[in-house]
Amino acid sequence: MTAQASIDRDEIRAQLRRWIAAEWSPELSLLEWRRRLAHGGWACPTWPREWGGRSLPAAFAEIVADELAAAGVPGPPDGVGMHLAAPTILEHGSDDLRGRLLPPIATGEMVWCQLFSEPGAGSDLAGLTTRAERHGDAWVVTGQKVWNTGAAHADLGLLLARTDWEVPKHRGITYFAIPMRQPGIEVRPLRQMNGHASFNEVFLDGARVPAENVIGQVGDGWKVALTTLAHERRLAPTRRIASRPNIAGRAWREAIAERVAASEPHKWYPQRAGRPDLVIARAVAAGKRADPVVRQEIMKLVALAWSAKWTAQRAAATRARGHPPGPEGSIGKLASSTIARAAARVHALIADASGMLAGSDSPLGGTIAEIFLSVPAISIAGGTDEIQHNILAERILGLPREPEADRDLPFSRVRRND
Ligand SMILES: Cc1cc2nc3c(=O)[nH]c(=O)nc-3n(C[C@H](O)[C@H](O)[C@H](O)COP(=O)(O)OP(=O)(O)OC[C@H]3O[C@@H](n4cnc5c(N)ncnc54)[C@H](O)[C@@H]3O)c2cc1C
Repeated sequence: MTAQASIDRDEIRAQLRRWIAAEWSPELSLLEWRRRLAHGGWACPTWPREWGGRSLPAAFAEIVADELAAAGVPGPPDGVGMHLAAPTILEHGSDDLRGRLLPPIATGEMVWCQLFSEPGAGSDLAGLTTRAERHGDAWVVTGQKVWNTGAAHADLGLLLARTDWEVPKHRGITYFAIPMRQPGIEVRPLRQMNGHASFNEVFLDGARVPAENVIGQVGDGWKVALTTLAHERRLAPTRRIASRPNIAGRAWREAIAERVAASEPHKWYPQRAGRPDLVIARAVAAGKRADPVVRQEIMKLVALAWSAKWTAQRAAATRARGHPPGPEGSIGKLASSTIARAAARVHALIADASGMLAGSDSPLGGTIAEIFLSVPAISIAGGTDEIQHNILAERILGLPREPEADRDLPFSRVRRND
């Protein structure tokens, strides 16, 4: 038995309860509470001790999150910093980057966005043309990014840029942590068909990144990007809500305000997932629970949702044994979009034509219409369904790679539209 496996779950729970009893006060500011959490190693308990964690096995993340929720205290921050930047920096960052960038992720003092996609490079991300050139102790970046969630409020961006045009496309990319608040960066919000504005276009014109903000090696950014994408494709972690009714005091007021502000661009994300949780109540309310077609579609949806949940649990168990997220994330991502579409179909059957109406007097105050307009996004974000199929075909089924005529050419000789 390994040392990690022998760690006692009840002992960890008891340690955390004792720690909370000694450290928590509802009158702390949220920042002060998060600093204490981080300092105690409880904000990110699976990070190595030297970087502010407790070196606990992955399975303990859930235990600690459950225990914080049960104690009725705010947890660590959510978002791109915690879920994408931190694992990428832990795996590939220099010690200087880990020391500088991980602590403000753990406390939520630095907000991150992801600057990967470009107008001409989404699925073919390795074809990106944003350029970074070394000038003295900095890199100077010029180009355009698009669909960047939350970029308007971010302090730092996970940026992919091309630093070598004379090698094949996957080999000339470098991965940077770029400061967002600078004159060389302009962020323009985009409005979506569902009325929300979570995305942005980001224009980089002579933007500067300190040389020490390269994550991984110069020219090795594709390998680093694969780590970020693997974390992005696993199913989103479940958010814990404190179960006790004692949500009062300064720290909670600030935590709730933060959650409201941070979730503003993502208010439509539950609708993006198709709201399978609503279908049974909607069928009953619409008098369609005995309709054989509606019943059959609901059963198909429930069966899909349960099998996806078990698959996600299997993947989580694999990670808990210390394996990094791999192509199984593609199965979870495909399952999410299949479920979202199936749920939207059932909502359409139940609501009939009235489901197309928006506004307060439409079904569920416009929520049903918002589902129809939001569900397509889940098949695109983090890599489209077709790209997940390609990944599964190649990496799990072992089928031949799809042909790519430009894969081995120096990027400067690849035919492009720019
Ligand atoms: C909700 C949401 C949030 C997002 N957040 C971010 C973010 O924060 N940061 C960021 O950088 N990007 C973000 N994106 C962008 C996202 O990563 C891209 O939209 C996605 O990778 C697809 O790229 P594209 O839009 O350029 O489509 P394209 O790549 O142009 O694809 C168009 C169509 O062609 C198909 N296709 C393309 N290549 C192949 C192939 N080889 N085989 C089969 N079919 C293919 C695609 O499946 C798709 O149907 C977000 C997108 C969404 C919807």
